[in-house]
Amino acid sequence: MEAVQVIIIGAGAAGLSAAKALAEHPDLACIHLEAQEGVGGRVKTFASEGGPALDSGACFVHTKGLTLYREARQRGLLACSGKAALLLAGRYTPVWRFFCQHALSNLRPFKQMTPRFYRADDPRQSLGQLISALDFTPPVAGLVRSTLGSSLGCAVEQVGVLALRQSLQQANIRLGRDTIQQTLKRPLATLLAEIYAPQTARVLTGHPVTAIDYQGAAVKVQCQNGPRFVADKVIITVPLAVLQQERIQFDPPLPAGHQQAIARLGMGQGLKLRLQFSKVFWKKRLRQLINTDGLFHFWIPDPAQAVMMVFYVAAAAEALDEQAALARVMDTLRTAFALDIAPLLVSSQLENWSANPFIGGLYSFDAIGSEGARTQLQAPVADRLYLAGEATVEGYFATVDGAIESGRRAAQQILDQLTGAGSGNSL
Ligand SMILES: Cc1cc2nc3c(=O)[nH]c(=O)nc-3n(C[C@H](O)[C@H](O)[C@H](O)COP(=O)(O)OP(=O)(O)OC[C@H]3O[C@@H](n4cnc5c(N)ncnc54)[C@H](O)[C@@H]3O)c2cc1C
Repeated sequence: MEAVQVIIIGAGAAGLSAAKALAEHPDLACIHLEAQEGVGGRVKTFASEGGPALDSGACFVHTKGLTLYREARQRGLLACSGKAALLLAGRYTPVWRFFCQHALSNLRPFKQMTPRFYRADDPRQSLGQLISALDFTPPVAGLVRSTLGSSLGCAVEQVGVLALRQSLQQANIRLGRDTIQQTLKRPLATLLAEIYAPQTARVLTGHPVTAIDYQGAAVKVQCQNGPRFVADKVIITVPLAVLQQERIQFDPPLPAGHQQAIARLGMGQGLKLRLQFSKVFWKKRLRQLINTDGLFHFWIPDPAQAVMMVFYVAAAAEALDEQAALARVMDTLRTAFALDIAPLLVSSQLENWSANPFIGGLYSFDAIGSEGARTQLQAPVADRLYLAGEATVEGYFATVDGAIESGRRAAQQILDQLTGAGSGNSL
């Protein structure tokens, strides 16, 4: 049984950033455990088939000023976003045409949307209800539902307006003002791997943690494949769904406040698809196709390749059937381009994030009634357990930068404790 000061569980963006922050104190002995055979968690590429690697998880930078943006900018990796078009009632529609046909008749509801969002005070109101209460015409309502739903990773009916508003306000984020969708010239996964190369090298992969015993002064961490480790402090960065599905047994159980917070937040479900075609059948400059009829959108990551990426969010009650998702995507493209595209499909690859037992979905969302849950999860448990990961940050949740910030925060809480700089808001 190996004894150290800190154990980090999970080597996604949160775990790697915690490891980097702790590495600034070389006298601190740490062990970093990861369940899967590779590191990066939800930042990953599809196995390459000869062509350049493409992200099967996170691919966009969503916040200016934070780690990814700064690092990408320094390396000259920020790319132009390119041209977007819409799929409206299944038909390919250029943005200018959509704007001409629908802008004037929807000016009022658009103006009302933000103030209504910031005035929300009913904990039962869903984002879907807020959108329905505004007088959008059906095509524009479809666009709003689908763009918000796909970025939040769930159907808008699942999101609590009050919980989302409070989460954004706590982080001082204003939608539109502080959020971006910046593409990169190469995969985000390679950027993350570069930033955290020294930390990646130290991760013990293939070590799924099954139990954490924090009854005594030291915490005992049990892995599925036998090894047991002991530490003074443990940072837990596993995804929300892993905690919701109780894949790790805590002894004693986590405090009631933490358990309730874990249960109240939502985890979106979905997958990512890579479609390789034999030729480009879309307009050359097209980079993004926004589907207003469903929660799945298309990207063309590299104009030189006949490859489309699909981010597919499964709506609430929908079972995530991989074959059905692929068939629906292909059918949508056939209708949009009025072309039999099946013979053009060379290969398809699919990353089903929901089916991965160590991830369990896409990312967290502010479910109805989840006000304050993310803040609750930041409170250390018994001065020994520290939760991190994208679900534990307000505002920047569901992003790589949010995960990075959460890892840094957990590391700082431990450093404060060890140096006596703060009591750490413990339970
Ligand atoms: C399809 C998709 C697209 C996305 N797009 C974007 C985007 O464009 N931009 C953006 O900023 N964000 C995006 N995100 C969100 C972003 O990927 C996540 O917010 C971020 O990567 C989460 O990092 P994390 O460290 O919190 O969790 P993870 O990356 O999930 O890391 C947690 C780690 O814990 C490990 N683990 C789980 N259980 C155990 C266990 N029992 N023992 C040991 N280890 C365990 C997991 O294997 C995993 O490696 C996307 C996510 C998905 C799925």
